[in-house]
Amino acid sequence: MTTTPDSAARPPSVDALARTLAETHDLPHALLVDCARRAVRDDPAHADVSAHQYAQELSATLVGDVINATGVLLHTNLGRAPLPFATSGRAYNIEFDLATGKRGSRHDGTAALVRALTGAEDAIVVNNNAAAVMLVLAALAQGRGVAVSRGESVEIGGGFRIPDVMEQSGARLVDVGTTNRTRLDDYARAVASPTNDIALTMKIHPSNFAIQGFTESTSVAELATLGVPVVADIGSGLIDNSCPWLFRHVEPLPQFLVNEPAARQSVADGADLVTFSGDKLLGGPQCGVIAGRAELVRKCAEHPLMRALRPGGHTILLLQEVLQKYVDRSVCDFVPFWRMFAEKTDDLKSRADTIVRATGTGRVVASTAVIGAGSAPGASIDSFAVETDGDITRQLRARELPIIARVEAGRTIIDMRTVHPADDEHIVRALLPPQ
Ligand SMILES: *Cc1c(COP(=O)(O)O)cnc(C)c1O
Repeated sequence: MTTTPDSAARPPSVDALARTLAETHDLPHALLVDCARRAVRDDPAHADVSAHQYAQELSATLVGDVINATGVLLHTNLGRAPLPFATSGRAYNIEFDLATGKRGSRHDGTAALVRALTGAEDAIVVNNNAAAVMLVLAALAQGRGVAVSRGESVEIGGGFRIPDVMEQSGARLVDVGTTNRTRLDDYARAVASPTNDIALTMKIHPSNFAIQGFTESTSVAELATLGVPVVADIGSGLIDNSCPWLFRHVEPLPQFLVNEPAARQSVADGADLVTFSGDKLLGGPQCGVIAGRAELVRKCAEHPLMRALRPGGHTILLLQEVLQKYVDRSVCDFVPFWRMFAEKTDDLKSRADTIVRATGTGRVVASTAVIGAGSAPGASIDSFAVETDGDITRQLRARELPIIARVEAGRTIIDMRTVHPADDEHIVRALLPPQ
């Protein structure tokens, strides 16, 4: 819709209406005038009601804080891993070498941290893991073959399909084995055939589903014996599956973490490169990390696509901060994803109890939280929730600080595991009967 800001033609009530809207809607004046004008034009008799509705709809399209009460720790539509984000507003030495005063690399700091955490020789960061896979294939296998098990030729969600990514990168997918069973021999035959011209073998973690029954797959350690570089797309970004940062917080380790392919173990097993997301089990900002042998990382960094796929400086700052928490093992205190993960179930119950007592509304019920972001399918985490009668999710979403809950069997479930304790008071206010 376009209207010309012609104040002479504007009915006086538009301005008055826009000023009323300003009392309840934190939007720029020109946008409120727009809402008011539309409302007056559509139906002058009910302009005040519809103007508020237009302003509300407009506000809802803007990205802002919400309270995640869904019980999905990495909620894809709520930004996956939440992170506190603050900058001083100063300039920062993103590509400036403080030692020499010359141009520096935006990757050196995170590379040092990734090296310390995973044992990889070098690392670079791109916009997301889809970009990481694309760059690796384009830089190391353009016009050549990449051997992938048929069971790992997967779609990860959001349209990330291995065959399509392969095609876009200019590499040629060479299917190996069968959907349920792929053995080292299958890869060896593919590598031995000169027509395949295999540049890489690639192991992709089918992170969002599991096949059961008569299955067999080939490990990174086995692939590393073939004499062709091995790329492991571990996806979820678990740094180390012994999870030393959970020591004394979560014991014993849940089996799904022990079984999850992790960066440190993949490098130790002989992966020449690993690629993973920053905002899944790493708990960091949206980005993708390529870590591994220095010579291969350098080829990726020097590829022309790198310029298009590199992340912004604030992503690097956030990632660096999160990786530092891993190095000093304060992950559970400072990385929100792992803080939620490690919170004691008893504490969740007592928080839910407090909310129900303070509001006289709802009941405390046991609940099941999940990891989300297509990570660790089937893995569940015990939780507690406040349950209320009926579906009140719409009114919870309409609050100034929206609360996103889920509905089960016609009842609203406010899962405490994904709510920061400091936000409990907002839940209380939302559940109190209107004054
Ligand atoms: C999630 C995932 C991707 C895509 O990562 P994004 O960071 O979402 O782009 C690719 N590969 C695997 C194995 C994944 O789990």
